[in-house]
Amino acid sequence: MKKASRTISGVTPVAVMAKPFPCPGKCVYCPTSTEAPKSYTIESPAVLRARDCGFDAKKQVEIRLKTLAEMGHARDKIELIIMGGTFLAYPCDYQYQFVKDCYDALNGVTSGGLEEAKRFNENAEHRCVGLCIETRPDFCGENEIGRMLDFGTTRVELGVQTLDDEIHHLTKRGHGVAEVVSATRLLRDYGFKVYYHWMPGLPGSTPEHDLELSRQLFEDGQFRPDGLKLYPTLVVRGSELESWYRDSCYRPYRDEVMIDLLTAIKILIPKYVRISRLMRDIPSKFIIAGSRDLALRGTIRKKMEQAGICCSCIRCREYGHRRRDGWAIGEPCLVRLDYETLGGKEIFLSYEDENRTLFGLLRLRVSDENAIVRELHIFGPEVPLGARLEQGAQHQGLGERLLREAERIARDDFRAQGLSVLSGIGAREYYRSLGYHLEGTYMVKQLG
Ligand code: SF4
Ligand SMILES: [Zn+2]
Repeated sequence: MKKASRTISGVTPVAVMAKPFPCPGKCVYCPTSTEAPKSYTIESPAVLRARDCGFDAKKQVEIRLKTLAEMGHARDKIELIIMGGTFLAYPCDYQYQFVKDCYDALNGVTSGGLEEAKRFNENAEHRCVGLCIETRPDFCGENEIGRMLDFGTTRVELGVQTLDDEIHHLTKRGHGVAEVVSATRLLRDYGFKVYYHWMPGLPGSTPEHDLELSRQLFEDGQFRPDGLKLYPTLVVRGSELESWYRDSCYRPYRDEVMIDLLTAIKILIPKYVRISRLMRDIPSKFIIAGSRDLALRGTIRKKMEQAGICCSCIRCREYGHRRRDGWAIGEPCLVRLDYETLGGKEIFLSYEDENRTLFGLLRLRVSDENAIVRELHIFGPEVPLGARLEQGAQHQGLGERLLREAERIARDDFRAQGLSVLSGIGAREYYRSLGYHLEGTYMVKQLG
């Protein structure tokens, strides 16, 4: 049966899991098992699927594509999501082979190397329009970024968890806030989208402190991530936290406290942020303590509705979700929001109707001499390439209009000589059709 929410944002996600491999981190809340990559439990659906394929990347993608076809999903615009511990800490050869295998599976041909695989993908039936990697802030320097550019990465999820060095120390995280600051700035300067993993309820925190730190996330220009995955701290079987819990050294917040806290955090979310997750995908039998409510997002939404509050985050305002939920949809208008971040200015452009329903968005970053588009996204439901669905927001020229406006702003407001786009490999043809050409790993246009 077709599950509408999977492609409702306009792109089909395909998650691929790397083989189990030790992570440089020793975080107390993270489960360890020899049969799953660090931080995953052996019976998570993603792990089960990957194990069936012996963690072979090509097979995983092929099976997923087949399943998506059987469910009737469009599969021409794919977002690859690479899962597993800290992928960038795996042996480099493994990383390159893994990513090449993913592209080969999308292309349906075996290439001679990663560069060739990427070239094939530019015109393939299943185009990779986005590639996401999760990593630790201390595994996100120039070397790691160079590799991520080679891979065709567009989004990076940083394990941030908290902005309190003492809590990082107590939980044996192995890095502090300074690494978060520098990784965030570097990623943005290179044009990546930056999502944070965020863990309320860690040992050493309180609900008040978590709320204060969440406020700091958006008030302080050193942070201001583009997206957030909220992972309430759980005591997971096989983690060091489990023994702390059994020794009565740690207690998670009660469910009502956590729900109130998450609701309060959601109220703080600026409109340029997407909350893409509100819970980890952990089978409840592995949860020793903490919230088992996998439908937390729904519980919180109900609570907010009762209080007459709307979440401003991108996901809650996306065209596809709102259309499905029966909202009246109006005419899209161009809206601009500027905000400061460390090392540069962010310009967030969007098409929204009078209820702030979001049709599409563009993130432009301008630093000293550089103007770079970090994201251009038109919201679904996914419309196959070359087709036009009457009710679809995709392919009605909004993407081009957003890009032209970004070019105008870069040229007129910031005197930029050119505009670069860190585009998914499978979106390169689209940018070519709008006058861009490939320079290194970026699509570039001179602004005259
Ligand atoms: S860095 Fe991530 S995967 Fe590694 S131990 Fe810490 S939480 Fe687990
Ligand atoms: Zn939201």
